[in-house]
Amino acid sequence: MRIALLGPPGAGKGTQAARICQTFHLIHFSSGDILRAEKMFGTSLGRRIRDFIDNGLLVPDDLMIQIMEQRVLAARDGFVLDGYPRTLPQSQALKRILQAADMPLDLVLNFVVDPKVLARRFEGRRICPVCLAVYHVDTMPSKIPGVCDHDSHELIIRQDDMPDVVRKRIETYQESMAPLFAYYAQQGDFKTIDASGSVDDVTRVVLDKIRRHFEAATAS
Ligand code: AMP
Repeated sequence: MRIALLGPPGAGKGTQAARICQTFHLIHFSSGDILRAEKMFGTSLGRRIRDFIDNGLLVPDDLMIQIMEQRVLAARDGFVLDGYPRTLPQSQALKRILQAADMPLDLVLNFVVDPKVLARRFEGRRICPVCLAVYHVDTMPSKIPGVCDHDSHELIIRQDDMPDVVRKRIETYQESMAPLFAYYAQQGDFKTIDASGSVDDVTRVVLDKIRRHFEAATAS
């Protein structure tokens, strides 16, 4: 299975991608996490992309395509893309790369969320700065408030979850994604998910859509 998740920052793509991967034994590629890890470790790539991330701007396409290309091609047993592609050139490059390797995308899920729900999700989001686990103070709290369940580090608010950066990220998302929706809608295998509900409710809908999609594909 090769699946891409589209949706604004805060739509829950990361959480749902992790659950999809656990259920169907796929590899999770979060472009945001990959970039943040490079930034945190101060690699040469990290230094090149730092300002884009900290200001909520998109990393240039040529760099992004290069970063994701080797990873997806190595995941021959299937993957879930979360946060990539984010522009039309990225989608076109992805299609070209995957087609050449005879491993096309099977399904694109587009997460849509009520803007008020989105705002609340950002206010409560916390992450572990070490293992990058994501929590929410109301909907997905850690067992001990403010402390990571996995490695006991103190949870923080991500620099790019600060209100001004969030606003910029959502604006950037809306501008860059419009042509992508048209592109994927034309190609079929594009399904919309209302991701405003609870994490578990959204997971049920997502897993059900995926199962139905693959059952129908196998039957035909
Ligand atoms: P995210 O956590 O997916 O919202 O990504 C955090 C930041 O990483 C974004 O605000 C961008 O600066 C950068 N980023 C993530 N994915 C992409 C992408 N596909 N193309 C360009 N920049 C990206």
